[in-house]
Amino acid sequence: MQEVTLEYLLYAYACLLAVLTLMAATSASSDKWPVRRPFRYVALSVAILASFAVNLAITSVWGIPAAGPIAFHAALILLYVAYPVAVSAVLMLVAYIVLTQNSELLLLGAIIPMLGVAFGLRLIGKDTYRVTWPIKVASIAGAATLASLVSTILSGASLNVVAGNAVMTALVVWAGAYFFEREKALRDRRAYWRERAQTDHLTTLYNRSRFERDISVLVENSDVGLMLIDADNFKMVNDRFGHEAGDIALTHISQVLYSELADPQKAYRIGGEEFAVIVCDHSGERILAIAENIRSKIETSSLIINSQSLKMTVSIGLTFGRKGDSPAEVMRQADKSLYRAKDRGRNCVDIFEEARSAA
Ligand code: GH3
Ligand code: MG
Ligand code: MG
Repeated sequence: MQEVTLEYLLYAYACLLAVLTLMAATSASSDKWPVRRPFRYVALSVAILASFAVNLAITSVWGIPAAGPIAFHAALILLYVAYPVAVSAVLMLVAYIVLTQNSELLLLGAIIPMLGVAFGLRLIGKDTYRVTWPIKVASIAGAATLASLVSTILSGASLNVVAGNAVMTALVVWAGAYFFEREKALRDRRAYWRERAQTDHLTTLYNRSRFERDISVLVENSDVGLMLIDADNFKMVNDRFGHEAGDIALTHISQVLYSELADPQKAYRIGGEEFAVIVCDHSGERILAIAENIRSKIETSSLIINSQSLKMTVSIGLTFGRKGDSPAEVMRQADKSLYRAKDRGRNCVDIFEEARSAA
């Protein structure tokens, strides 16, 4: 009886070590640390190696065949966190079993079901399933515990080893998945809100604040073509068809932009009926052709609203910024051209004078 209690205490201790190691490993793999991916893998490998060595030392002193499963369960979680580390951990385990040639050779038979579960975990971790993170954590821990039961029973272990392993797996895998998934859920939520703050809700294009950021960065690093696109006489569209129809018309403009641009990520709704498009890495001639396409596509497509045909046109001011130009100046030029396009009678593309030679 006393021996069994001691065995469980050792399991508990090994378990605590594994949880602490996993906490450290997950923290090392988090984006909070400004280190490159390979260094994270090294940190994870060192952590797993350390827990493996300590567990091995403890359990071998007491003659309990637990080191193999402990290392393997940790490898399982790491497979879920990072492939390269997991592969090295599995290799370490196999090397240990082969080199020591002890009764744990039987554990090799457990590797196959474990790998099956590990790939399952990898799938669950891939956001293929739309479940909340606590459910993910519970299913991952449940699957791993089931695999642990199957593998230890198959390896012919005694009942207390089977039970100890199951409890340990449930705890260790749950803790590892908990820290990993919670961190990931927080990160995803931050990214979601950041994206939402930069998006226009009506058209799903990026908004003005994102435009201002992008234009500064892009002009600093490359030559750009900038189009400012303004719907013509849009007030009349609203007056004649109603505000709701006006909203549909604005969405229609954004759809034309989505279909005409190779990179719709560079199309923005910067004001009520005003849009902007940034084009990089294209000749002036090509950018002018894109602007013409957008203009004519909007002119020739018609929307049917309340069985009335809604015709729309846009005016486009176009300029070319050279790498290193001031973004404010590039904006001013496109704005000036847009005014001129309006003056010329609307429904046309105007190129800023000095930029004309580039086209
Ligand atoms: P111009 O050709 O000179 O640009 O004439 P315009 O009528 O388009 O320009 P103006 O600036 O006088 O009016 C813009 C109109 O766009 C007024 C406003 O009601 C409408 N508008 C702005 N934002 C929205 C919106 O989100 N939805 C709808 N339906 N209309 C909008
Ligand atoms: Mg307008
Ligand atoms: Mg306007």
